[in-house]
Amino acid sequence: MAESAHSSPPGNNEPRATAGGASADAESPSTLVTARTWGDVTEPKRVTVPAGLWTRCPSCEAMLYQKTVEQNLFVCPDCQFHFRISAGERARQLCDQDSFEPMWDKLAAVDMLGFTDVKPYKDRLVSEQKKTRRPDAVVAGSGYIKGRRIVLACLDGQFMMGSMGCVVGEVVTRAIELATKENLPLVVVSCSGGARMQEGALSLMQMAKTSAALARLDAAGGLFISLLTDPTTGGVTASFAMLGDVIFAEPGALIGFAGPRVIANTVRQELPEGFQRSEHLLKKGFVDRVVHRHELRSEISRIIDFAGK
Ligand SMILES: [Zn+2]
Repeated sequence: MAESAHSSPPGNNEPRATAGGASADAESPSTLVTARTWGDVTEPKRVTVPAGLWTRCPSCEAMLYQKTVEQNLFVCPDCQFHFRISAGERARQLCDQDSFEPMWDKLAAVDMLGFTDVKPYKDRLVSEQKKTRRPDAVVAGSGYIKGRRIVLACLDGQFMMGSMGCVVGEVVTRAIELATKENLPLVVVSCSGGARMQEGALSLMQMAKTSAALARLDAAGGLFISLLTDPTTGGVTASFAMLGDVIFAEPGALIGFAGPRVIANTVRQELPEGFQRSEHLLKKGFVDRVVHRHELRSEISRIIDFAGK
């Protein structure tokens, strides 16, 4: 008991030679010196910054306080780089506070083909569901933007790169159909690597399904605002993302169908500067407006008013 009272501070288990070597079982200073080798000398513990407190801007490389970035809607205050955000965060940012009501959030994908790439698709689904805490790569429902009721669907780039399988296709289609039935403006935020190859042709069918539903929305006189975010590629670009009555894009977003390397190899030409970025697509007429994240709510509500919805 007496020994514990004399022992070193908690957490430090190394025996320490006390001045004068009063302790009976403590080694003498000389043996301590010879016993130590360079291998025993550990580096002094570095003072580490708690994870998630600071973040580095991938564009201007500034060290940014995470809270500041969050308050700035995940936009770099220095260079205005738009960070990628989850679908949940997107819905929170776009909708009036606490007005978003998620729908169809019990639909989860099924491994119909028994597909295996690096790992089985069914295992991949489980790990992605654990990571993102949602059943698939989409968040949809109804909400309000500056007091205007809308139907909103956001793809989640954090779930298998926001790839479109049966669930994403089905949820987007249900959102379109709800907007059609209730005559509400539809906003779809795309963020996707394209069709989900693990679901084969069934994922490609979603392109036709969503496009057909949009044609019915259009015939009923509905309004569809498509917002393209970084990245919007593949089968999503080739279907609903590019079918908006109005197409917005966030600054600097990668938007395209095939990747730039594939295109460069096919056309055997050097690609222009900023190829497949929002600003380039605006110049070429594929995008109607490049909108800063801070302006999205105002711009969307302005279009809704303009369309008389
Ligand atoms: Zn920056």
